[in-house]
Amino acid sequence: MLVVPRRSRTKFWVLLVLVLVVALLASVSYLIWRQSVPGVRVTASVPRFVGQKTPLTVVVEAARGRVATASVRMVQGGKSIAITRHDGAAMPRLELPLTLEPTAAGFREGGATVEVWARDDFWRPWRGQERAAATFPTTIDLTPPPLEVAAATPYILPGGAGLVVVRAGDAVRADARVGSLTFPTFPMGPQGTRVGFFALPYDIPSGTSLSVTAADEAGNAVTRGIPAEMLPRRFRRDTIEVSDAFLNAKVPELLPQRPPNQPLVEGFLVINRDQRKFAEEEKRRVALKTADKPLWEGAFVQPRNTKVFSNFAEARTYRYQGREIDTQVHVGFDLASTKQAVVPAANKGVVVYAGPLTIYGNTVIVDHGLGLQTLYGHLSSVAVKLGDAVAKGQELGRSGATGLALGDHLHYEVLVHGVSVTPIEWWDAKWIRDRVSGPLKAAGIDVGSLEPSGEDRAGRSR
Ligand SMILES: [Zn+2]
Repeated sequence: MLVVPRRSRTKFWVLLVLVLVVALLASVSYLIWRQSVPGVRVTASVPRFVGQKTPLTVVVEAARGRVATASVRMVQGGKSIAITRHDGAAMPRLELPLTLEPTAAGFREGGATVEVWARDDFWRPWRGQERAAATFPTTIDLTPPPLEVAAATPYILPGGAGLVVVRAGDAVRADARVGSLTFPTFPMGPQGTRVGFFALPYDIPSGTSLSVTAADEAGNAVTRGIPAEMLPRRFRRDTIEVSDAFLNAKVPELLPQRPPNQPLVEGFLVINRDQRKFAEEEKRRVALKTADKPLWEGAFVQPRNTKVFSNFAEARTYRYQGREIDTQVHVGFDLASTKQAVVPAANKGVVVYAGPLTIYGNTVIVDHGLGLQTLYGHLSSVAVKLGDAVAKGQELGRSGATGLALGDHLHYEVLVHGVSVTPIEWWDAKWIRDRVSGPLKAAGIDVGSLEPSGEDRAGRSR
């Protein structure tokens, strides 16, 4: 028989108690840890104001385990309505896209709350009373902003620009619409007044609707027509003979990546179509950098001693070895004077583009504010850099033949939110008085230095 000494027996009991205490402590800590693991985390882009239809996304994430159930409710007074719920399989992260439609759900304008109810499947020793995992206060607003067209350019032409002044109360945005194009307006003058330029593309179909739409923070929108009369305008056509000398000079420069056995004329078509299209898209991107206030002063200036030898919106047929190979529209003025002539800024502004731009070669774009910009192409050298503030007449660079240009000249464009319009209107002090400062003054806005002065009367002959 084994005789256990007394001392060893005591040791055994002490050890056993110790083990039990440790096991108990471990179990209690484990349960405390289980209980302390946070529940689901909710993020939601609930806006300050909810309109007729407000889309948003609710994201529910489980810290441990998976999201078992989730529902979104809208609450106002004693009324609580389920908007959406998730009853599918549990998952660590749940995205609930939904649309709040307060009218359909029978809510009224005023304060309301979006509640997210959700729970995970993580086991905890004790689960308290169910309550919302997150609440988001908001305000239901179903009333569109007031909108009145205070003034507009009375007569507009294809390939031209127009201006609209609206009173739009608490609207956070108002856009002029020309067919499918939209042009933003900017706050200017008295509270609630907004001003915007719009462009009529040269190929705008007659009868295209002109309107302005204002929206408040809740997304409530209202639309009014722009009372402007569209007059007809015809554009010239021209034929350009594409020579081998031109192809040899330009295609390798503008398309260095082309396959070596590709005929030059095919490379020319890629440049004339794809690179032209890219440049058009780049103009729209640069337009977004416009200042939200006017920077220009009076009429725009034509460079001294220049002659327009190629017109705006001229349809050009390209011929090579006796056959027509392409048709494109020229959306600016070509101005010729001497070689490497000084290219002045047409008006006061800020340089928003300075560098090569496909067919335009070395290019400068100057922003004059409110979406109005001027473009200078084919430059041999550039004297300004991105972000430079420039004065009217300040040298931007020298004329040249970079890009798709045969001889030294300046390609000059006026852009309204990236859409080319005829430069002739902006060289004409009377046009600016009648069509720009006129509507501004009619709407009670102080035009100050925007109005062409007596010196500008000469207009384009400068
Ligand atoms: Zn040109």
